[in-house]
Amino acid sequence: MPIKVDSSKCTGCGLCEKSCPFGAISIEDRAKANKPHPKFKKIAVISSACTLCGACVDVCPFGAISVTAEKKETDDIALYKGVWVIAETEGDEIHSVTFELLAKGRELADKRKTYLGCVLIGFGIRQKAEEIISSGADKVFVCDNKALEVFVDNAYVEGICGIIKKEKPEIVLLGATAIGRAIASRISGRLKTGLTADCTGLDIDHQGLLVQTRPAFGGNIMAEILTAYNRPQMATVRHKVFKPLSKDLSKRGEVIEFGLPENLKLQTKVKKFVEDVTQKVNIADADIIVSGGRGVGGPDGFKVIEEFASALGGAVGASRAAVDSGWIPYSHQVGQTGRTVCPKLYVACGISGAIQHLVGMQSSDVIVAINKDPSAAIFKVATFGIVADLFEAIPAIIGEIKKIRS
Ligand SMILES: Cc1cc2nc3c(=O)[nH]c(=O)nc-3n(C[C@H](O)[C@H](O)[C@H](O)COP(=O)(O)OP(=O)(O)OC[C@H]3O[C@@H](n4cnc5c(N)ncnc54)[C@H](O)[C@@H]3O)c2cc1C
Repeated sequence: MPIKVDSSKCTGCGLCEKSCPFGAISIEDRAKANKPHPKFKKIAVISSACTLCGACVDVCPFGAISVTAEKKETDDIALYKGVWVIAETEGDEIHSVTFELLAKGRELADKRKTYLGCVLIGFGIRQKAEEIISSGADKVFVCDNKALEVFVDNAYVEGICGIIKKEKPEIVLLGATAIGRAIASRISGRLKTGLTADCTGLDIDHQGLLVQTRPAFGGNIMAEILTAYNRPQMATVRHKVFKPLSKDLSKRGEVIEFGLPENLKLQTKVKKFVEDVTQKVNIADADIIVSGGRGVGGPDGFKVIEEFASALGGAVGASRAAVDSGWIPYSHQVGQTGRTVCPKLYVACGISGAIQHLVGMQSSDVIVAINKDPSAAIFKVATFGIVADLFEAIPAIIGEIKKIRS
């Protein structure tokens, strides 16, 4: 390990154990650790959970901990230009997260005064390049190859790494989908650069660096992460965090073909696809969502939420508190560890507005909050707030909807 504890200096005082944000340090008996010392009985032992953050090095009063890892910087940072989106395809269709990333990518590229590129990789997808250009891209890098007919991670990774090494984009964005997550980590590993997963915000700072915002330490803080010394700066973003641009059919762009490496060996063979039929509810696609939280009081309380959702023609969502209580299945959960949603209307009923819930719904067009506590945090993001008992407010609203409809 590139982090070492000097057993002649460590007193086993435990300050490093307390300072470690990852719980990677334990204070153990020297005899057990086979590190005898004439005076001290204990020693700090560092586990593989260590991220080399260096917090323990700074806190150790005896200079007993050292990190020997070298900082590997990208040599030619100034040569990296352009903001890229890696398009995701579903058969011969493009996943909507791609258009959302193109919208954010356009904004970032304009701030950096550079071009917006998009990698379109798959089979039978070449004709989609125009749609990508009309959605914001200036250049589309297309790799259309029979070997990519079904998703095989190493083929995608090799193809994308090849074109990144050649063209040197400064920023690369991917969807935080199953495919995006599978390839982003491998690409960043091969290119020896940083990757920030599940960003909820992206911007450019005064130095021109990508500011990657995401919840950290169990969602208790929103961290702003910079990849200062390596390129490209890579981030994944969940579906529905950003909004797509409306298409500009008059926009023109460049289409550049690229191929897979000649000696590519596929390490995986897909035998067959088995559809997952357990996910009956896809709240991520709903235009109207009515969500219930702990305030609904139990599984029966969700009947009122279902009735409200049905009156509005929407889907039912939930906070984690309601899901963890077993009142409603996980597939309904909205938030950091559930779904990210962006409906036209989001109604939060009996939900306090914890940050982990907000990151999953705050970009909804209109947010209505019903809560009996006027100081609930949900009101800070709500377009309209109703301070009331949900069991009184919801039947009254349903009654009004029925009156209008009749
Ligand atoms: C790592 C991590 C990940 C997490 N991920 C998620 C996530 O994905 N999604 C998520 O939602 N949470 C998540 N959480 C949990 C989050 O921190 C909150 O605990 C949770 O969102 C609270 O749910 P709630 O608002 O339903 O409950 P509470 O915070 O208990 O709020 C209940 C609200 O209901 C109101 N209320 C009570 N009775 C009524 C009534 N009759 N009428 C009207 N209002 C009423 C109360 O005033 C209160 O504001 C996560 C937490 C952690 C640490």
